[in-house]
Amino acid sequence: MTKKDKNIFKASWSYDEAPESTDHVQIKKQYDLYIDGKFTKPIKGKYFASYSPSDNKEIAKVAEATQEDVDKAVKAANRAFKSWSELPGKERGKYIFRIARLIQERAREFSVIESLDGGKPIRESRDIDIPLAANHFFYYAGWADKLEYAFPNRKPKPVGVAGQIIPWNFPLLMAAWKLAPALATGNTVVLKPAETTPLTALKLAEIIHESGIPKGVVNIITGAGETGAAIVNHPNVDKIAFTGSTGVGKYIQKATAGTNKKLTLELGGKGANIIFEDAAIDQAVEGIVNAIFFNQGHVCCAGSRLFVQESVADVVIEKLKRRMETLIVGNPLDKNTDIGAINSKKQLQTIESYIKIGLNEGGEIYQPDCKLPKNGNWCAPTLFINVSQSHRIVQEEIFGPVLAIQTFRTIDEVVEKANNTPFGLSAGVWTEKGSKIFHMTQKLNAGVVWANTFNKFDATSPFGGYKESGFGREGGLHGLKPYVKFE
Ligand code: NDP
Repeated sequence: MTKKDKNIFKASWSYDEAPESTDHVQIKKQYDLYIDGKFTKPIKGKYFASYSPSDNKEIAKVAEATQEDVDKAVKAANRAFKSWSELPGKERGKYIFRIARLIQERAREFSVIESLDGGKPIRESRDIDIPLAANHFFYYAGWADKLEYAFPNRKPKPVGVAGQIIPWNFPLLMAAWKLAPALATGNTVVLKPAETTPLTALKLAEIIHESGIPKGVVNIITGAGETGAAIVNHPNVDKIAFTGSTGVGKYIQKATAGTNKKLTLELGGKGANIIFEDAAIDQAVEGIVNAIFFNQGHVCCAGSRLFVQESVADVVIEKLKRRMETLIVGNPLDKNTDIGAINSKKQLQTIESYIKIGLNEGGEIYQPDCKLPKNGNWCAPTLFINVSQSHRIVQEEIFGPVLAIQTFRTIDEVVEKANNTPFGLSAGVWTEKGSKIFHMTQKLNAGVVWANTFNKFDATSPFGGYKESGFGREGGLHGLKPYVKFE
């Protein structure tokens, strides 16, 4: 695209600011730990700050739970287990329905806090994260009194106390993915949100409290990695559900080996997004954008490796570059924003170091000519061409808005390339041929394969990985299984 073309294009697409209002949002200056049905001070009295990644200003102080606090939370969950697990499923379901309804009622507030604390565009938190979180509670509320139908003739029983550790990329949604099936099946819970994004989980604690759920059934505690490790290593925790990096996942797998703890791990990914020459090209280009730039690329199942059939590669890359010119990077609370702030300084450094690695390894970079805000953590949408399977940016998870593009000629070649990764979480296939879709879904080693779409989630649909992307499924009927045992 010539500079003149770019200017013409830009001039015809200017937007006025459209900020979401924040006056309806209540954020406390300081948050305590939610243990045994009350907000309690951390035993050692320590707090840390949660910052807004779009300006690095402090939003609130949050309690740091130590081993003693974890112990207190696990004891509370243990005490609550007997009566909660013996409550008829129909009654448990009512509490879970109530939580779903309360999330819906407070959806705007949740959306704003999610975007403030995590940096994601308000359109995404408003239209995806928060409604999906409510849907997960609705969906599993429906299962609470039907477990005998979910597992016919197997007499499912709850596992006990579930320790749940969640990451910073979808804070409320991941809390919902973990809490809803655990509660529906009669388990009690100790949940820890990520250090950089604790605020919507704490808001959720307020709502859970409002729902009147018996004390101790849900305990939400904040802290860093050590707090997570204390949950993992606690002898009275019966099940660990973890979503996060493959490195920490491996550590948790070692720590729980030889114990009776049940374990599910949802780890990293390096999803292949495959565009065949017979695909609807304009739709595929939108799909590429959604696959890699959704949530700044902080998505375990992001389509971060693009494979384009050689015959259409030039046109796809040209159209993709044009589309990238129109992406708006900036204030997460502006309703026009497509790409918000990178979640933390540390993550920005990681992404920038991978961009350097890509350049040093000879990749050809393209970034649109977009103005990044001065303060805060920002990264322009980025693509690399002229890369191959051996490049680190093709093999390693970057977890940012960076796309590596390769071409292919035949189906066998692209299957080989797409599966040549330590991960196995997601893939996408773009073609007008149903038979090709079915062929590819059989061949690709990925827990989820999307056809002519990408990054679509639904409470009824199981999600999870193979290989270094972890094991166990969340969502759908499959999502109940990690939380039950059989006689
Ligand atoms: P981590 O895996 O370190 O964090 C995920 C969660 O685990 C957080 O709540 C974290 O707490 C907690 N945690 C950290 N160390 C331990 C431990 N030893 N025992 C138990 N819990 C622990 O991810 P990062 O936030 O460091 O992100 C780094 C990389 O992880 C990203 O670049 C990305 O590649 C990947 N990632 C993948 C995700 C996915 O969805 N698959 C999600 C997030 C990250 P705290 O935040 O307080 O440190």
